[in-house]
Amino acid sequence: MTATSKSNLAGLSLEKLRELFVVAGEKPFRAAQVMKWIHQRGVLDIDLMTDISKDLRENLKTIAEIKLPIVVEDFKSEDGSRKWIIEVASGSRVEMVFIPEGSRGTLCISSQAGCSLDCSFCATGKQGFNSNLTVAEIIGQLWWANSLLGGFKSSTERPVSNVVMMGMGEPLLNFENVMDALSIMMEDSAYGLSKRKVTISTSGVVPAIDRLKDYTDASLAISLHAPNDELRSSIMPINKKYPIKELLRSIDGYMESLSDKRVPVFEYTLIAGVNDHRQHARDLAVLLKDMPCKINLIPFNPFSLSDYRQPSSSSISNFRQILQQAGYTVTVRTTRGDDIGAACGQLVGDVEDQTRRSQRHKKRQLDAAEAAKNGKKAFDSTDNLAVAADRL
Ligand code: SF4
Repeated sequence: MTATSKSNLAGLSLEKLRELFVVAGEKPFRAAQVMKWIHQRGVLDIDLMTDISKDLRENLKTIAEIKLPIVVEDFKSEDGSRKWIIEVASGSRVEMVFIPEGSRGTLCISSQAGCSLDCSFCATGKQGFNSNLTVAEIIGQLWWANSLLGGFKSSTERPVSNVVMMGMGEPLLNFENVMDALSIMMEDSAYGLSKRKVTISTSGVVPAIDRLKDYTDASLAISLHAPNDELRSSIMPINKKYPIKELLRSIDGYMESLSDKRVPVFEYTLIAGVNDHRQHARDLAVLLKDMPCKINLIPFNPFSLSDYRQPSSSSISNFRQILQQAGYTVTVRTTRGDDIGAACGQLVGDVEDQTRRSQRHKKRQLDAAEAAKNGKKAFDSTDNLAVAADRL
């Protein structure tokens, strides 16, 4: 085996680590030992794995290596949030964010460099798509957060108690790698996070949600952001391919497959004058009436390249009240880390925009301004439906 084809132990699920040991003629239980060294003790040097014989360590070094992405910047918010910029093998930079709240510490992880889905309220979407992150690059974010927050020093107190796949990218368009990373997060020999504390957030890739139950039982959040197809398609192009009715059917199927009683969380970014009217709240209440769920309202966080505005506090409170009166459990996400650009929808990283989306976006804005001046209809911003979704 050449150096370049060595397996990266950091990115192997327990099952794949076992396979590696069996193929190498070793006992499969070694897999859990190696996993504990990497993901519980933070050790990346095979020579330091002292409960493994020297001969086996030497053998292991000929067939495997341990490689993680690199942390290139570390930002600390006044409110205690942290944001790290991570450089991955493709040369792109992605972001991850840690949000402490009392005894809870939530890590928001990226799954792709950039994103192909072009939701109109999202900074990542404006960059276009660059690459899928590998399993090691996804789980490496959790490894780094633990390392930088002192989580490898104690076997009982872990700073990261919850993980949300809600950073850059659509996790279900990097399906296999995200599923392996989730299994490492939830594996007792690694991070041992409970299925209730690991959440996949999707914009609604229906065929992938349909497959999900065969791979994981993690919790599910859905970026909904509109109560009807017309509005949702205008701000989330993916809705043209997978409209709301299909999406709800698919979510229902996944929730039904879980062995415990859990409900999905619907994320709804409130954008002033776009989807924050009282009638939208009433329509949302009707739309979700048959699905036990929670609703998380996220006041839009402005970023350059977007003309959208934050909703007023009265429209947030009206919206919440209507949903609560209809019987829903509603939370309003407090903006955290906006002094370091870490708030929801603000993650931008630094990717090569292979689709030239940001230039196209700027051009569309100019065209729209020109059209508006001449009294014509503004551009249709929904011309970039994910190519990757077609492959599922
Ligand atoms: S909201 Fe999510 S799916 Fe939509 S463009 Fe942003 S990262 Fe992609």
